Amino acid sequence: EAPAIPATRAIDSLCPYCGVGCQTTYHVAGDGPQAKIIHVDGRDGPANAGRLCVKGRYGFGYPRHAHRLTTPLIRRPGIPKSVDLDPANPLAAFREASWEEALDAAAAGLARIKGQHGPHALAGFGSAKGSNEEAYLFQKLVRTGFGTHNVDHCTRLCHASSVAALLEGIGSGAVSNPVRDVEFADVMIVIGANPAANHPVAASFMKNAVERGAKLILMDPRETPLARHAHRYLQFRPDADVTLLLSLACVIIEEGLTDEAFIAARTDGFDAFRAAALAFPPERVEAITGIPAETVREVARLYAQGPNSMIFWGMGISQHIHGTDNSRCLIALALMTGQIGRRGTGLHPLRGQNNVQGASDAGLIPMMFPDYQRVADPAIRAKFESLWDTPLSDVPGLTVVEIMDAALAGQIRGMYIEGENPAMSDPDLAHARAALGGLEHLVVQDLFLTETAMLADVILPASSLMEKTGSFTNTDRLVQLTQPVLPLPGDTRADWWIIQQIAQRLGLAWDYAGPAEIFDELRQALPSYAGITWQQLEAEGAVVAPKFTEDGPSWPVLFEQDFPTASGRARFVAVAPLPAAELPDTAYPLVLTTGRVLEHWHTGSMTRRANVLDALEPQPWCTVHPDDLAAHGIASGARVTLETRRGAIVLEARADRAMQRGSVFMPFCYVEAAANLLTQPALDPFGKIPEFKYCAVRLAAETAI
Ligand code: SF4
Repeated sequence: EAPAIPATRAIDSLCPYCGVGCQTTYHVAGDGPQAKIIHVDGRDGPANAGRLCVKGRYGFGYPRHAHRLTTPLIRRPGIPKSVDLDPANPLAAFREASWEEALDAAAAGLARIKGQHGPHALAGFGSAKGSNEEAYLFQKLVRTGFGTHNVDHCTRLCHASSVAALLEGIGSGAVSNPVRDVEFADVMIVIGANPAANHPVAASFMKNAVERGAKLILMDPRETPLARHAHRYLQFRPDADVTLLLSLACVIIEEGLTDEAFIAARTDGFDAFRAAALAFPPERVEAITGIPAETVREVARLYAQGPNSMIFWGMGISQHIHGTDNSRCLIALALMTGQIGRRGTGLHPLRGQNNVQGASDAGLIPMMFPDYQRVADPAIRAKFESLWDTPLSDVPGLTVVEIMDAALAGQIRGMYIEGENPAMSDPDLAHARAALGGLEHLVVQDLFLTETAMLADVILPASSLMEKTGSFTNTDRLVQLTQPVLPLPGDTRADWWIIQQIAQRLGLAWDYAGPAEIFDELRQALPSYAGITWQQLEAEGAVVAPKFTEDGPSWPVLFEQDFPTASGRARFVAVAPLPAAELPDTAYPLVLTTGRVLEHWHTGSMTRRANVLDALEPQPWCTVHPDDLAAHGIASGARVTLETRRGAIVLEARADRAMQRGSVFMPFCYVEAAANLLTQPALDPFGKIPEFKYCAVRLAAETAI
């Protein structure tokens, strides 16, 4: 007899994963603790038009996974801080506590360190998985309750260098045009990004544009799936990106394809950039980039002559010590050809997490208040002192990796980490885990006993996106609302409530009634959200930022008339190629690149606990060119050891012709073989982003480690 089909109710919300921001309908059966999601549909949202990828459609199991933390926990005395807990019972390192006891302990530890060592001995990491309201509250807590600007989040590990270059060049860190502007584009450059895996619904619109006749130019050292749809695929050598981009600019200048009227009317600094670019004709740098000069010339002509051309980029551009220079070159290409300020043109750094744009807008950035207003500016500081009715530090805060360094040096002694997992996501994990494990007091707020939570003194069980009301801002600057799909399980609480409880215990007179009231204050702090009301979000479901006044317009396409800089003009910044921080040598002869896969998301804390997704890709692997594997005497599918100067891991090796000779790729979502035990922490000097995309590695048949 066929099992009965359960009756379900339909609840509209959002996908919890990537920055595309797909709107969803969750079909839920049962009530109270028995409530569970049966299936998911895509809604006709502006970013997804009914589409979902495998993560959005099948990745809904994690909120009810058996590992879900449902009660506050306090570390038992004498248990060493380590991620190597008893795998059979890792929770044995902690005891259950009431909310009152856990919150008191969490806040008391932070207050004691502030009292003994001053405010700058504390730091906080907020989350791009949380809502705008949570991000806003968290950064306000650190700035006003801790008394420091040591507050950051995962954008430091993904697009910090892109944002640094965009703010410097065009005065705005967000995308200029939405993904779906590909419908108006004639040429699309996708460089250092793998949207087929990481932004699959965005990739589907790019493929539709190709079917319509647009030309896709894919540039990446790894032949990712979008190459099948590309008019030209440029498999440039790892670390040759700045050289390649300068050679494209050189062709555009040499062949008279610049938009001189646009350059004269709307930009500054072109002469210095032109001089820098003219030193890199493609014929001269062919051996460096690996790309035939004629191909570079053809691509440069296509992009410049569009008529409408867009550029998309991802971590392959940003996660280098020259990540800011890479983005400066992309900005320069758009400015010198006037490919910005119209539909189907512009610059789009594809954002990774579902609210990384909003978390950055809301102020989870150590050197900037909400809306990218600089901490170092006395007038801005005075404005926030007035809004928050408290004096504020004039010292810009430390960034993610700098905070880890300061913790290891004993300068940072206490941290509050909400929804981030630096014990998996930071470079050189042995160093990061030692830094976190050495803290005097660590408070972690999360859904699961993540590797970071394993090092905590107090763990506060948080709410998942499926259980919360909040606004989230996608990669297109669309602000969209979630609503609870499932009830909060066990003794978990809403994240905004937990942050407020900590704030109250640190002496702040906070009494927010809920997300709508927090959003009302957020609008006062962020001029670009000032015109968006909670009621409008509830009524319309999605509103584009910036929107400066309630009765004024939104701008899906930015920079039509001017740029939001002091002069209203954009700025070229001249660059020169810079070698990676750690080059291959005889001891470590290969190049390691890390990244993401279609089925898993970031450090895997959610997708590894979404049963369907984990069944699809259940164990760690790396890909290597088959000739490199053969040269090492290793068969595809065999287990291998990957080793760098920082650590070694064992995992499966897969032969893959998408790889270039001499390079290895692996995802960073697998705790069993954590990629970041191998990566190295050298930083881009402007964005302070680590060089995840390049370090020296050696490969061998499996050896004991
Ligand atoms: Fe979710 Fe991104 Fe997939 Fe859309 S494309 S369903 S937002 S993971």
